[in-house]
This record gives sequence, structure tokens and C-alpha cells, in this order.
Amino acid sequence: MTSPVWHPFTQHGLGEPIPQIVSASGAWLTGADGTRLFDGISSWWVITHGHCEPRIAAAIAAQAGTLDQMIFAGYTHPQAEMVAQALVEMTPPGLDHVFFSDSGSTAVEVALKMALGHWHNRGEARHRILVLEHSYHGDTIGTMSVGARGVFNRAYEPLLFAVDTVPFPEPGREQATLDALERLCRAPEKPAAFIVEPLVLGAGGMLVYPAAILRDMREICAQHDVLFIADEVMTGWGRTGTMLACEQAHVVPDILCLAKGLTGGAVPLAATLASAAIFESHRSKDRSRMFFHSSSFTANPLCCAAANANIAIWREEDVPARVAALGAALDDGLATLAGHRALRNARRIGAIAAIDLHVPDAGYLSDVAPTLRALALADGLLLRPLGNTIYLMPPYCATCAEIMRVFATIGNAIETVGR
Ligand SMILES: *Cc1c(COP(=O)(O)O)cnc(C)c1O
Repeated sequence: MTSPVWHPFTQHGLGEPIPQIVSASGAWLTGADGTRLFDGISSWWVITHGHCEPRIAAAIAAQAGTLDQMIFAGYTHPQAEMVAQALVEMTPPGLDHVFFSDSGSTAVEVALKMALGHWHNRGEARHRILVLEHSYHGDTIGTMSVGARGVFNRAYEPLLFAVDTVPFPEPGREQATLDALERLCRAPEKPAAFIVEPLVLGAGGMLVYPAAILRDMREICAQHDVLFIADEVMTGWGRTGTMLACEQAHVVPDILCLAKGLTGGAVPLAATLASAAIFESHRSKDRSRMFFHSSSFTANPLCCAAANANIAIWREEDVPARVAALGAALDDGLATLAGHRALRNARRIGAIAAIDLHVPDAGYLSDVAPTLRALALADGLLLRPLGNTIYLMPPYCATCAEIMRVFATIGNAIETVGR
């Protein structure tokens, strides 16, 4: 019997198996047939501490019997107030206002609309958005517009709005990035905002760049009064070693996008934080200047309860120390792959390790990634390489022994594919 389910980023015509997962705990998923799979990518970058984290699960269960869902336009509830207060306290000073939504894409859409609304309400015609090459910010029309163009969005390209792209700061070519940004900021048609993934471009291939460049890019935007939007949907909640990647560069953005790990990854919640200036440009006695955005599940109480439980973990436990220990294990694992002639660019930041496999014709649509994925799956490891980039992004509860075993699996898979 075939399933009616249409899966995301899946070519059903290939008839590849779609394993069914029935439960999860810590860093492990369990299949319908009892097989255990190590979650090497934190269930697509969302799970932080581990699956079914007891405090988060308990908070959701308790909230489910108290207040399930309510309109958030003109009404509020204690869980949302607590999350917002904590986010203002935990993020760099200056981000004083919190707008809730329900996914990374909507957090970014909200950020873009806030930036455009800011200039519109101030009577300045500024609509251009600057982006970094190889970026990914989501799969809706707006977020695809500010992301890299490619096979993923070719069919929709006529509807995507035009942006100006700053080259990625390749090692040794960082100055070209800064010069291009400066030039675009000075253009007669002044840009509204520059949006970036701080320190790591995730879907672009786990491309890492130095904190100093992030800092310089932020400075250039400040000098030219171009809003700086930090998309920390993937990098937030410890993934790069600190709560936010921006902290490592001492950067305070004008707008900050959070999602994925905000609830520990258990349920969907997103937040877009904004500076007082952006909030104030919308605040007025004039109703036509309000921020025109909502979605049905804005600040859903169950999701806010999960976020509060996650925040309590952050406040009471040393999460960065856990990420640092995991990072050391990932370094040891990467070291076991050193010397393999088909591997290049081993890199690691926080709880993310990546390496590029150099085999002929290894584009996103080639067979390399699915072959690696299948080899890993057969050995109890959930991996999802990005083209020829193999990366690991495990939940923070993963042990050294588990990481070493995972690297043995990866090593064997590379032997098979890269010979
Ligand atoms: C995943 C991701 C998004 C989109 O988040 P969704 O919750 O999948 O909509 C946006 N930006 C970045 C940097 C991401 O990694």
C-alpha cells in the first residue's frame, strides 16, 4: 500500500525507502521495526539537549491541560510574557521587543517586513535587501528571495524579488566581501537591510567564516544606517558554542531571528527580536502604522511552555560546557578521517563538524549524498549530506563513545564512496 504523504525535499519517483520512526530519546531514534538510529543531524538542526528532554516534555504536558491556544492579537498569556522577558535578558542589550511566530521562515519573513515597515513609516523609500552569497533563510517566496538561487527555486524564480549579493568571505578574500558590502551600502538607492547567517552558513554547505568579518560587516551597516538582520535560526541556542553566534563577534544586530532550538527543538516556535528604533517607528496613534503580521499559532502556549523549560535549562545548567565537550569529541572524530585523500576542509565550530568529499560530479543532485545517507542508515546513523559536504550536528547529550562510533561509520561510508 502506498502512502498518501508527500515528503519535503524528497523525490518520490526514486522509490527510496522512507523509514518510519516511532519514538526517540536522547540522541537516538527508534524505528517501527525496533532498529535504533543515531540522530547525527539533530532531526534537521532543531533538537539541542536531546530528544524528549524530560523537563521540556513535562512542561508541554502540564500546559496542554491548562491553556492550549489563544488569539495573540490584543491578548497575552503568562508563558509568552516569560519567554519574551527571558529572550530580552539573554540576548545582547538593545533587542527590547519580541515578535512571535512559528518557524524559521516566518521569523525571517517577519524580520524583512519589520525592516521595510521601519523605512516606510519613516517616509524613506528603501526596499533593497543585501544578502550574503550561499545563504539560506527558508523556503517561502520571501525567504527564497534572500537566499541563494539554484535548482531549489528555479521554478519560482520569476516571483522572487531582486536582491544584491555580497560575496562569501572565502579565506584570503575577506576584504572583497567587506568592500562589496561597503559599495552596496553607499549606493544611491539606499538598501533597507543586510541579512546574514552569523559565523556558519548552514544549508549553503556548513561554510564557516571568522567572527572578525561578522563584526566588520555589522560595523559597515551601522556606519551607513543599513539595518543588520542576524538569522540565528540554526546558529542560536548553543550550536556554535555560545548561546548566540553573534556573541562571539560582540555583535548586536538590529533584528534577530530565532526558531529551531528555541523550544529545545520539541515543538515549533519562533521569535523575531527588534531594536527600540524599529518598534518605535511602528508605534503611533495611527492604526495604519501598526505591524501588519500574524499567524494563527502566534505564541502558542504549549510552545511557549516548552521554550520556558528550555530557557530554565539554559539558566540552571552549563549548556556551553556540554557543547564544548561535544566539540572536543567531534575534533577527535575528524582527526580519525585525516589523511583520507578524498577529503578536504575539515572544519568544526561548536557542535557542528563538516568535511567535503572530493569525488567527481558531486553536486547537490548527484548520487553521492543519497549513497552516503543509505550507507550510514544501514549502519544505524541518520546523516543527510549537503551535496559533497558531510556534516554532523548531534544533540548535545551525545557521548564521546557515540561520536567515535559515528565517525567509524562515516569513515567506512567514505571508503565505499570515495575509492
Ligand atoms: C532552517 C533555517 C531557516 C528556516 O527555518 P524553518 O523553521 O525550516 O522554516 C531559516 N534560516 C536558517 C539559517 C535556517 O537554517
